[in-house]
Amino acid sequence: MFNEKLIRLSYDTEAKIQDIFKRYEIIAFNNQIKVLNAFKKYKISDIHFNSTSGYGYDDIGREVIDNIFAEVFGAEDCIVRHNIISGTHALATALFGVLRPGDIMLSVTGKPYDTLEEVIGIRGEKGNGSLEDYGISYHQIDLKDGKIDFQSIKEYLEKNKVKMVFIQRSKGYLDRPSLNIEKIKEISEFVKDIQKDIIVMVDNCYGEFVEEKEPTESGVDLMAGSLIKNPGGGMAETGGYIAGRKDLITLCSYRLTSPGIGKEVGATLNQNKNIIKGLFFAPHIVKEAIKTSVFAAALYESLNFEVNPSYSEKRTDIISSIKFNDKEKLIAFCQGIQMGSPIDSHVLPEPWAMPGYSDEVIMAAGTFTQGASIELSADAPIKHPYIAYLQGGLTYESGKFGILSSCNNLVEKGLIKL
Ligand SMILES: *Cc1c(COP(=O)(O)O)cnc(C)c1O
Repeated sequence: MFNEKLIRLSYDTEAKIQDIFKRYEIIAFNNQIKVLNAFKKYKISDIHFNSTSGYGYDDIGREVIDNIFAEVFGAEDCIVRHNIISGTHALATALFGVLRPGDIMLSVTGKPYDTLEEVIGIRGEKGNGSLEDYGISYHQIDLKDGKIDFQSIKEYLEKNKVKMVFIQRSKGYLDRPSLNIEKIKEISEFVKDIQKDIIVMVDNCYGEFVEEKEPTESGVDLMAGSLIKNPGGGMAETGGYIAGRKDLITLCSYRLTSPGIGKEVGATLNQNKNIIKGLFFAPHIVKEAIKTSVFAAALYESLNFEVNPSYSEKRTDIISSIKFNDKEKLIAFCQGIQMGSPIDSHVLPEPWAMPGYSDEVIMAAGTFTQGASIELSADAPIKHPYIAYLQGGLTYESGKFGILSSCNNLVEKGLIKL
C-alpha cells in the first residue's frame, strides 16, 4: 500500500526511537500501578457498573468513580460526570464555581485555549454570561521567549489581590512549549509565596498520565479535563472531570448542578462501566498515543519539518505540532491522517468555521467516539505558519499507519519527496 521508500523510512525511524519508547513504558507501568491500587482501595466490583435513572440518588458507581479519580490524581476530591459535555464545560464549571464578582483571574501562560476566550469574556458578545459579565476580571501574562515570565508575575501579584492563577499545561493551538509538572509546581510555589491563599488552577487537557505525577500532586488546587482525551482511555463515551481541594470541588459541584445539591444527584445512564474501564485503560492508551506522537515527530523531523516537541524531548502531553509553512501541505497532511483512520477513512476533511474557534479549522478525526482526540486526530487552524496539532492513537500500530498515510498523501500530491 505504501511505497518502498516510505516503508524503509518507517523502519529507520522506528529503530532510532526504541529507547524513547522504553521511557514511556516505565511511566505507563507506574501509572497503571496507581490506578490498580485505587481500584483495590475502593474495592471496585461488578455492582459499581450498575446504572441509575431519574435523580440518580445513591448511585454507588458514580460515588466510587469520583473516589478512584481523586485517588489516582492525588486530589482530595473529584467530580467525574458523563454530563460534563467537554473539556471546555469542565473548565468553565470550575471557573464559575470558584470565582466571584470582583475577583481577578490571572493567566500566567498567556492566552488560554480558544474556547475559554468566550467563557472569560475576552472574545464574543457582551451579555453572553461570561465571567466578565459577572464582574470577574481577567489579566494575562504572556510567555517570554516561550518561558514563564516570573518577574512580571511577581510585579502583578505585588500590586493586585488575585483570586486565581490559571495555568494551561498543554500548548493547545499555540506555538509554544507545553509546561511539565516540575514547572507547574515551581509556578504554584512561586505565586503562593507572594499570596498564600491564591487558588492555582490548571487546564490539564491532554496531560493526564503522560508523567508520573499530576498537577494536583504538585501544589495545584484545582484542575479539569476531558474524558474523551487521556483519562477516558478511549472507553469513556463522553464526559469530563474536575479534581482538587475538597472545598473547591464542592463549589464546582454547586455550579454543575445547583447549590445545596452538588454531587449527590445525577443519573449515570449506563456510563459507569465505560468510565471505570476507561480509567483502567488510560495509562496504556496514553502510552500508545505518545508512541504515535514520537513516531510522527521522528518521521517528519527526518523530512526536515519543524516538530514541537522534538521526538527525543521529554513530554508532558500527547500533542506533536508540525509546522508546514504551507496551506496545501497542512491540508494534505490532515486529509492523509483521515485516510489512515479506522472510521470515515473515505471522507475528506475540509476547513470550516467551528463554534468556539476564531479561525477556520481543519480536523481529521476518524474516531469511534465523535471528536475523541485520544484517538488519532489532527487539528489545525488555517493560519500562518500552518501548524498541524497531532494527537492520539488508540494503538501504536493503527497510529503509525495513520502517520504513514499522511506522509504518503504528501508524497502522492507531489508536495514532498522522499
Ligand atoms: C481540548 C482542550 C480543551 C477543551 O476542549 P474541549 O474540546 O471542549 O474538550 C481545553 N484546553 C486545552 C489545552 C485542550 O487541549
